[in-house]
Formats: sequence, C-alpha cells, structure tokens
Amino acid sequence: MSPTAQDNPAFAHPAFARIPPWVRQKLSLLAVDKIQAVYEWVENECIPREQIMKAQLEGSRWKTPKVMHELREKAKAKGLFNLFLPNHFKESPGLTNLEYSCCAEIMGRCYWAAQTMNCHAPETGNIELLAKYCNPAQKAKWLQPLLEGTASSAYSMTEPDVASSDATQIGIRITREGDQYVINGRKLYGNCLWNRDLSFYILMGCSDPNHPDKWSRHSTLIVPCSTPGITQVRNLTIMGYDHAPDGHGEYVYDNVRVPVENIILGEGRAFEIAQGRLGPGRIHHCMRLIGQCERAYELALLRCTDRRKTPRGKLIGEFDSNIERVAQMRLELDAMRLVVLNAADTMDLLGNKAGKRAIAQSKILVPVAACRIIDECMQMYGGQGLTQHTPLPEMWTYARFVRVADGPDAAHRHQVGREEMKTAEGFRERHEGYKERYRRFAEGYGEKYVSFD
Ligand SMILES: Cc1cc2nc3c(=O)[nH]c(=O)nc-3n(C[C@H](O)[C@H](O)[C@H](O)COP(=O)(O)OP(=O)(O)OC[C@H]3O[C@@H](n4cnc5c(N)ncnc54)[C@H](O)[C@@H]3O)c2cc1C
Repeated sequence: MSPTAQDNPAFAHPAFARIPPWVRQKLSLLAVDKIQAVYEWVENECIPREQIMKAQLEGSRWKTPKVMHELREKAKAKGLFNLFLPNHFKESPGLTNLEYSCCAEIMGRCYWAAQTMNCHAPETGNIELLAKYCNPAQKAKWLQPLLEGTASSAYSMTEPDVASSDATQIGIRITREGDQYVINGRKLYGNCLWNRDLSFYILMGCSDPNHPDKWSRHSTLIVPCSTPGITQVRNLTIMGYDHAPDGHGEYVYDNVRVPVENIILGEGRAFEIAQGRLGPGRIHHCMRLIGQCERAYELALLRCTDRRKTPRGKLIGEFDSNIERVAQMRLELDAMRLVVLNAADTMDLLGNKAGKRAIAQSKILVPVAACRIIDECMQMYGGQGLTQHTPLPEMWTYARFVRVADGPDAAHRHQVGREEMKTAEGFRERHEGYKERYRRFAEGYGEKYVSFD
C-alpha cells in the first residue's frame, strides 16, 4: 500500500476533512505536507489578520499594506510560494493540478490568503503564460521576478468598445515601427496603476486586422507600467468595492511604445497564448470559491446554534426550513468540489485541452451555486449578515464577479451546449438500433410491431 493511502495518519488533520478518498489516494507525500502547511498558514496567520489588513488599508488605499508584504516574506520562507504552478514546469514546486486544487480551496477561506502565497489572480495565469511561452531572455527579465514575488503583473484583454468575451473583436491597435511596437486604444480591467507595486501588463491587441484568419490577427505584448502614454482614466469599483490595494483600472493607450523583444511567441500568436492561460486559473477561482462557501456555511451554522438568537423561543437551526437549507448547502458544496476536482484531475491525466469541457463545467456551475449558498448564509445570519460584521457580503461579491471574469458563464454554457447538440447524431443511431431490435424481437415473440415515430 502506498504511504499516502487512506490509513495515512496525516489524514486525521483537519486540512483533509473535505478531501474525497479518491483524491487522498492520489496525493504525493509532498502534497500531503503542503496541504497541511497551507491549512495552518491560512487558519493561524491569515484569517486572524483580516481586520488588521482592512485597518492598514484605511487612509492609503493604493499602497500594499505592510502586513501583506510581511506575510509574503514569511510564506516564501516557509516554501509556500507558487504552489499553483503544475509539476510539468521546471520552475514548479512540484504539485499536480489536483493537489494544488486542495490547497486552493483552503486558501479561499480568506479572500487575500492566496496573495500571501503568490497564488493569486491574475499573477497565477501570467506566471503560467510566461513559463510556457517566453524565451529564456524574457523569462529571466519578466518571469523570474514574478516567481520571486519582487514584481507584480496584470492581464489586459477586455475593452469597453467591443464584446470581449469574443476575443477576436479585441481592437486596441498594435503597429510595428522599426524596432518598436506602438499601442493605441482603450482597455477595461487589469489591476490598478495607482498601486506602485504593479510592474507590467500582459496586453492582447490587434496587430493585423486584415489577416484572412481571424485567429491570427492578434498579438501579446509585455508593457511595463512606467511606459509613457498609458493613462488610467479611473478605478473600477466592483458592486461598490474598490478592491484596494490592487483594484481594476480603465485605461487609455496613446502611442505607447515597447521594444519588439517584448512580444510573446511572435505576431499573430495571441490566441494560442490566451487559450493556454485561462484553464487552470478558472479551476483556481472555483476551488477558492468553494473555500469561501465553506467559511460562509460555518458562519451560518454558528448563527443557527447561537443561544442568544431564539425567534419564537427556538434556535434558528431548529426551524425545519433551515435544517433543509443546511442539508441542501452541504450537498451542493460537496457536489461542486467533485466537479472541480474532476476537472483538475482531467488536466493532469490528459492535458489542459482535453480538460476544456470539465473546466467549462466548473466555471458554469460553481460561481452560480456559490452565489446561492452565500446568499442563503446571509439570510440565515439576518441583518448582520449583510454588514461588515461578517465577510459574507464580500464573499458574495467575489462569487458574483467570477460569473463574468475569465469569460461569462453564458459563453461557457453556449460552448458546452453546442458541443452537446453535436452528440445527437450518435444517439440517433443508437435509437434506430433499439427500434430495429424491437422489430426483430416482436417478430420472434409473434407480437405486433408498433412504430412510435
Ligand atoms: C472583477 C473582474 C475582474 C476582471 N479582471 C480582468 C482582468 O484582469 N483582465 C481582463 O482583461 N479582463 C478582466 N475582467 C473582464 C472580464 O474578463 C470580461 O468582462 C468578460 O470576459 C466579458 O467581456 P465583456 O465585459 O466585454 O462582456 P461581453 O462580451 O459584451 O458579454 C456580455 C454578456 O453577453 C452575454 N454573452 C456573451 N457571449 C455569449 C455567448 N457566447 N453565449 C451567450 N451569451 C453570451 C453574456 O451574458 C455576457 O455576460 C474582469 C471582470 C471582472 C468582473
């Protein structure tokens, strides 16, 4: 029996309480160790500092708080940095997508815990992109500082003037002039430039609008934040939250010039890159959301059993409607986890491309279900559940924005649904086969054959 199999005493640790047996069986010793360490880190170092992080942000919203810098240094020293980078990269700390997913759920219990471990969006997607597609010189210049946590990056694809979920419409212009690319246009989203820790954008733009193949019209450039010509028009608030200190910006690019060596892979290769970037990030968001839901669920249970709160003389958790709510939430949470872990495992076993459908299923299912679960938790918590007395409103906002960020769920449903429609022909053949066999059986039994068409 493998040392990581079911009877491993390490599994008695609360970090493994929600990890299904089929996943436990696949965990390496390294993963068992890291999952436990991430749990200790989030429970003991992050969650108890949530109010301190908020307090340090007051009065200087766009400066990364001291406590975040301090925690990042500590997490790095403990070997908790970059766990998300799958083990097929040489820069990886050694976990599979499945193993990291278990860590990501735990990180999700505190909104910013992933950032202390350099496992936050959009950094994760950007690091994976740079590790996958950059040449050695680019890796040394752009990737290494991100891995070490001495630089920070944003991803800039969305635009206010087009439907960005169809990235073939991305219109910001990239024109080559000598040994430079010149960028002109507008961008929406991508971290806020007001935070001076932000180092560069990875920008997708249109370099050849007349190329006959619409998938070859776009290119990806690295644009340092200090480049003249980039103006942040404003910070975007998300349902009223400014998401300080990182935020989301709205930008104008006016003759922004970068050297030609800042192009990734080459002109016309942006779609190849964008596809490679998004899959794992979606899984990370989904697992973190499950972690957020588990925490919301725990708060709801606490409220249900709070002896000070007894409407009509009963605990809140003694009302049948709430007992049923709790059962439904537990069921949905456990079901969501299975869907996402299956996607991560598919990526490990068959690659990101083969995992596309399972990733899309996770992206469709989890944010919607998480919104519903957190909403129910707020309801059970009563008036306080909608205030800063609990993290519930921020959790709900996170779940709600993931329905749109990294591609709207409607687009994923559309893609999955269209592919499902294509399977109808296969079922038609099977259905015809049933009919033919029924006709033969009817003859054999001497029964009348009745057509149902
Ligand atoms: C909090 C947050 C952070 C973000 N961070 C970033 C970032 O770092 N970098 C970045 O570039 N972008 C970022 N985004 C932007 C996000 O990725 C885009 O908003 C998203 O891809 C949708 O593009 P769009 O807003 O142009 O909407 P559109 O493409 O105009 O879509 C609008 C709506 O149309 C419908 N729709 C679209 N396509 C289909 C379809 N195929 N089938 C059915 N209905 C469809 C959906 O209802 C969809 O919500 C972020 C968004 C949020 C909310």
